[in-house]
Parts: sequence; structure tokens; C-alpha cells
Amino acid sequence: MEKVIDKINNRKQTLFSIEIVPPLRGNNIEGIYKRIDQLIDFDPAFINITYHKDEVVYQKKRDGSLVKRTISKRPGTVALTASIMNKYNVIVVPHLTCGGFTKDQTENALIDFNFLGIKNILALQGDAGHGQTTFIPDPDGHSNAVQLVEQIMRMNNGKYLQEDLEMAHPSEFCVGVAGYPEKHYAAASLDSDIQYLKAKVLAGADYIVTQMFFDNKVYYDFVDKCRAAGITVPIIPGLKPIALTNQVDVLPRLFHLSIPAELDKEIRACKTNDDAALVGTRWGVEQARDLMKNGAPVLHFYTLGAGNSIRRIAEEIF
Ligand SMILES: Cc1cc2nc3c(=O)[nH]c(=O)nc-3n(C[C@H](O)[C@H](O)[C@H](O)COP(=O)(O)OP(=O)(O)OC[C@H]3O[C@@H](n4cnc5c(N)ncnc54)[C@H](O)[C@@H]3O)c2cc1C
Repeated sequence: MEKVIDKINNRKQTLFSIEIVPPLRGNNIEGIYKRIDQLIDFDPAFINITYHKDEVVYQKKRDGSLVKRTISKRPGTVALTASIMNKYNVIVVPHLTCGGFTKDQTENALIDFNFLGIKNILALQGDAGHGQTTFIPDPDGHSNAVQLVEQIMRMNNGKYLQEDLEMAHPSEFCVGVAGYPEKHYAAASLDSDIQYLKAKVLAGADYIVTQMFFDNKVYYDFVDKCRAAGITVPIIPGLKPIALTNQVDVLPRLFHLSIPAELDKEIRACKTNDDAALVGTRWGVEQARDLMKNGAPVLHFYTLGAGNSIRRIAEEIF
């Protein structure tokens, strides 16, 4: 399977890519296939699959009592990756987080990826646990994505955790990492955040995918700052068309980002979600056109709840 970085380096024009969130526990894979079928004509260069660590949940039993369980609400990242690779013959990039893994479990996951022919990974710290405001590392796990990238790169050099392994097989992972044009919520400043981003690249990351943003100037300024800081790898813009009226409140709260006043006003004036999706799609087309005109390497779309809008945007611009 090809590597994302080779696709980017060999591109003749701006590429199209998408991120898929695994279905909630209990749902089947058909919904995911439908979402991909809807977008596959636009020849995605790669498809990312998010990872969701276990959460503590309290489930009600028949007798009304609550039972504490630790489960992932959205399991299946690795199996989805392999299934989509097989069904569509496309590059699939599973997300791998620090959270939810000890270093040994990380190594096991990397071995699984390797055996499945998965050559691409997006390496992340992972979301804070349910009810927590900041990320708390697992005992024996990594604290941040720099450390995770370092472990992957050690395996790429044939170095496993057990140092006395003989003839250990080197992996060949291509690694992407996350960047935040409006700063990561826990960072003291955008400049310090960019220094840590640079550390991920120095550790071996091949490219960066950004958090979603709605004003392209925010992305261009971020790219300029990264270049000034000495980051030279491709910086892929992450895009999400607004599809629901309440997203002007929900997205800034969840993802610590801003919505431009003009878009905010237009969405708030919408009476229905269908109206909001039309506004969000038009905004997305304009953002995408401008990014393409300015040479963005890839347009990476977050698909959750926005498949129809992304199809309309892709019809207009690809
Ligand atoms: C494109 C994308 C995809 C995502 N996919 C998922 C997913 O599938 N699953 C999921 O759970 N979450 C996902 N997230 C969310 C992400 O896990 C969170 O935003 C997380 O809080 C930060 O992850 P990171 O890898 O950017 O962190 P890091 O790069 O580790 O940075 C986290 C914070 O620590 C600081 N920092 C970094 N290194 C150091 C250091 N050495 N010392 C001190 N401070 C440091 C940074 O400035 C930043 O504030 C995704 C985010 C993006 C943008």
C-alpha cells in the first residue's frame, strides 16, 4: 500500500481526502460503506479512520440499578481500516493515540498494522477522557504525540521495546500529526504550540493535518508561522462544512475554534438544518476553491454528519 507522503509529493493537483468516524457500538459497517460510496467517485487520495479510547459508562440494568463499565463507544478502527483498504483499494490511515495504550500495547498495535499491510498512521495524543478537562496519560503510556512518533520511528529503525530481539523487522510507517491553526486548547500560546509541532516533525512526522477552520486566513497565517519556525513538511487543511444550525455553538465549544462573524450570522438566520447545510456548503465551496487556488496539497474533509454537503462541494471543485 502506498504512503500518503508519496501521494502528496507526486500529486499533479490538489488532492481530496476524508476522515471517517467508526460507527457507534451496535451499528454495522454498511453505513460507513454508504458514506464512502457517496464520495468514492472523487478519488480520495486517502481515508482516515479516527480512534476512540475506552470510556467509563454507567449502564442501567433491568432492575434499575447502575453498573459501571469501561468500553469504547466507537470500537473497530483497525478492522475498519483493513476492510476499507480491501474493499476500495485506497490508502487508509488509522489514527493511533497515546491515550488508551501503554507503550507495549502501542507496539502490539503497530505490529498489527504492519501485518495488515497498513503503512500510514496519524499519531495523536488523543482526546481527554470523558469528564476530564485535560489529557491524563496512561501509566506506562506516552504523554504526548512527540513520544508516540518517536516510538513509531524507533520501530521504523528495527528497534522494538525489547532491546535484545534479534533480526527485528523494521516497519515502514508514514506518519502524520495534528496541527492547530487557532492553537491547541492546552497550549500556552500559538508560538509554543508550533514549537511542539516542530518537535513532532523533527521526531519523524511526514506531514501535518490541521484542525478544522472556517476562515482561510487563519490557515495561511498558521502555515506562514510554521514555515518561519522551520517546519517544511506539507500542511493539509482540515475542512468541515457546517450542516446543522447548532454547530455555530457546538463546534467552537468542542474544538476550541472560531466561526467568522459573517458565517455565524448567516447560520443563525437559518430556520432549518437544511437551510444551514446550504449555507455551510456554499461557504465550504468558497473555502475549498480559495485553498486550491493557493496550492493546498490536499483538502481533507471531516465527514461526520456532513457527507451530502461534502459531495456537493466535491462536485463543484474536483
Ligand atoms: C486531524 C485531527 C485528528 C484527530 N483525531 C483524533 C482521534 O482519532 N482520536 C482522538 O482521541 N483524538 C483525535 N484528535 C484530537 C486530539 O487527540 C486532541 O486535540 C489532543 O488534545 C491533542 O492531540 P495532539 O496529537 O495534537 O497532541 P500533542 O501534539 O501531543 O500536543 C498536545 C498539547 O501538549 C503540548 N505539548 C506537545 N508536546 C509537548 C511536550 N513535549 N511538552 C509539553 N507540552 C507539549 C502541545 O502544545 C499541546 O497543547 C484529532 C485532532 C486532529 C486535529
